[in-house]
Amino acid sequence: MSELNETGPTLDETGPGAAAKPAHGHVPTGRPRVVIIGSGFGGLFSARAFEHADVDVTLISSTTYHLFQPLLYQVATGILSEGLIAPSTREVLAKQKNVEVAYGKVVDIDLQGQTVTATALGTDTIYDYDSLIVAAGSGQSYFGHPEFAVYAPGMKSIDDALELRGRIFGAFELAEIAAASGRHQDLERLMTFVVVGAGATGVEMAGQIAELSKRTLPHDFRNIASEDARIILIDAANAVLPSFGDHLGAKARKKLESMGVEVLLDTKVTNVDAEGIEVETGDGAHQRIPALTKVWAAGVQASELGKTLSEQSGAELDRAGRIKVQPDLTLPGYPNVYVVGDMISLDNLPGVAQVAIQGGKFAAKQILHRLKGQPTDERFKYFDKGSMATISRFSAVASMGKLRFSGFIAWFMWLAVHLFYIIGFKSQLGTFFHWAVSFLGRTRGERTATEQQIFARNALDESGFEAKVPLGSGRALPERTPDPKRDAG
Ligand SMILES: Cc1cc2nc3c(=O)[nH]c(=O)nc-3n(C[C@H](O)[C@H](O)[C@H](O)COP(=O)(O)OP(=O)(O)OC[C@H]3O[C@@H](n4cnc5c(N)ncnc54)[C@H](O)[C@@H]3O)c2cc1C
Repeated sequence: MSELNETGPTLDETGPGAAAKPAHGHVPTGRPRVVIIGSGFGGLFSARAFEHADVDVTLISSTTYHLFQPLLYQVATGILSEGLIAPSTREVLAKQKNVEVAYGKVVDIDLQGQTVTATALGTDTIYDYDSLIVAAGSGQSYFGHPEFAVYAPGMKSIDDALELRGRIFGAFELAEIAAASGRHQDLERLMTFVVVGAGATGVEMAGQIAELSKRTLPHDFRNIASEDARIILIDAANAVLPSFGDHLGAKARKKLESMGVEVLLDTKVTNVDAEGIEVETGDGAHQRIPALTKVWAAGVQASELGKTLSEQSGAELDRAGRIKVQPDLTLPGYPNVYVVGDMISLDNLPGVAQVAIQGGKFAAKQILHRLKGQPTDERFKYFDKGSMATISRFSAVASMGKLRFSGFIAWFMWLAVHLFYIIGFKSQLGTFFHWAVSFLGRTRGERTATEQQIFARNALDESGFEAKVPLGSGRALPERTPDPKRDAG
C-alpha cells in the first residue's frame, strides 16, 4: 500500500456519497503558523517581510495573482496587458520557501478557534493559525445601488478592466457600423463615455479615453471621426482630485478640459441603464445623458471579512465597512490578529498602496517580535510618501509633503515611481516597452477585446455558476504527505 493510501481517505470516504467535510490546508510542522489573507499590497508585502524568519506562512487569496491596481486603467484603455500588472503570486514568492500560497476565497474566520475557512470552486479548506494578517482590501461601492454595476463596471479587478476595454473599444466599433449604415441618430449615444468619480482613477480614465479618441484611433476608422467622442467626468463633490488640494485639483481640471473632457461637478448620479445615465445637478435640475459606455470610479466598500471580524471582536465598522483597529493594527482582544490596508479605519489613513505596504510590513515585524518574546510597538506610524495622478501622456499632478508638482515633471516622477513598484523585472521591462509604444508613438499594444469579455460576468452572475458547479463537491482532499526536505523550509 502506498504512503498516500495510508494517510489519505479511502474510496468510500471520497465517493459520491461522502459527507461534505472540509480538509485541513496545511500539515503541522511545529513552527509558528502565520496565515495571511490577500495577495494585494498588504498581503504580499507582509509575506515578504517573513523572509528568513523561523515561521510557516500560508498566504490565501481569492486571486492567483498580485494585482497592481494603480495601473488597471491602462489595461482598460489598451496600453498594458493584464499579465504585466498581475504577476502570479506563486511565482513572485517561489523562492521564499517558508511561504505556501493557497487559492481560495476566505468565507469564515473563527477568532476563538484560530482558524480560517476558504473555499475554491466548491471545495472548503480549513487553515489553523497562530497569528493572522487580514489584508482583503476593498471593492467598489455603488452607494446603495448595486444594480448600476451591470451597466457601469467599476475599476477594481482584472475582470473590470478587461470588461471596460471591451466596452470602450466596442463602442467605437458600434459607432463605425452605425455611421456606415446611415444610423447617425445613434452616434451621440455610442460615442459618449461617462466616467463617474473625479478622484485619481476617474481622472486617469477620462484622460486616457480622451487620448485614445484623439491620438490613437483617428486613423483607424473610415466612417466616424473618433476625435468627436464626448467624454464626461461627473462627481457629486465640487472638486476634481479633492485629496490633492485646490491648486492641483484646478490644474487637473484645466488640463482635462483642454483635452475636451467635460467636467460636471456638484452632479449626482440618480440612475444608470443600458442606454445612458441620469443626473441631478447642484441646482436640482435633472438631466439624462445618452451614453453606451459608463465607468464607475466612485466609492469603495471594504471587504465583507471586516463584518466577520467586527461581530466576533466587537470592533466597530465605519460607513465604508472598514474596521476600527487598535493603534497597533490589531483587533481589540486579539493581539495575534492584524488587519491592514484598505480594510482599516485608523487616524483617517487613506486607502492607498503605501498604507497597505507599510501596514503589512509592520504587522509582520510585530508578529516576529511577539514570537521572540520581544516588546512590540504600540502604534503603527504611517510615513506619507505623497500622492500622484496622471491626466494624459506628459501630464500629471503630484503632491509630496509641502511640495506640489504638475505637468511633465510630475508625469516623469509618476513613471519612475510606478515602474519601481511594479513587481518583477519581467513586468517592469514589459511595462516600460508598452509605455514607449503608447507615449512616444500613437498606437496601443493591447487592444484585444472580445464579446465574452463584455458579457461573461453578467452571464455568470445570472446563471449562478459558482453555486451550481462545485468541482470538489465539498469533499475532503487526501492529506498532503509531509515532505521533510520541503517542510524544513
Ligand atoms: C483603480 C485603482 C487605482 C489606484 N491607484 C492608486 C495609486 O495611484 N496610488 C496608490 O497609492 N493607491 C492607489 N489605489 C489604491 C490601492 O491600490 C489600494 O489602497 C491597495 O491596493 C490596498 O491594498 P490591500 O492589500 O489593502 O488590498 P488589495 O490590494 O485590494 O488586495 C486585496 C487582496 O485580498 C484578496 N481578497 C479579497 N477578499 C478575499 C477573501 N474573502 N478571501 C481571500 N482573499 C481575498 C484579493 O484577491 C486581493 O488579493 C488604487 C486603487 C484602484 C482600485
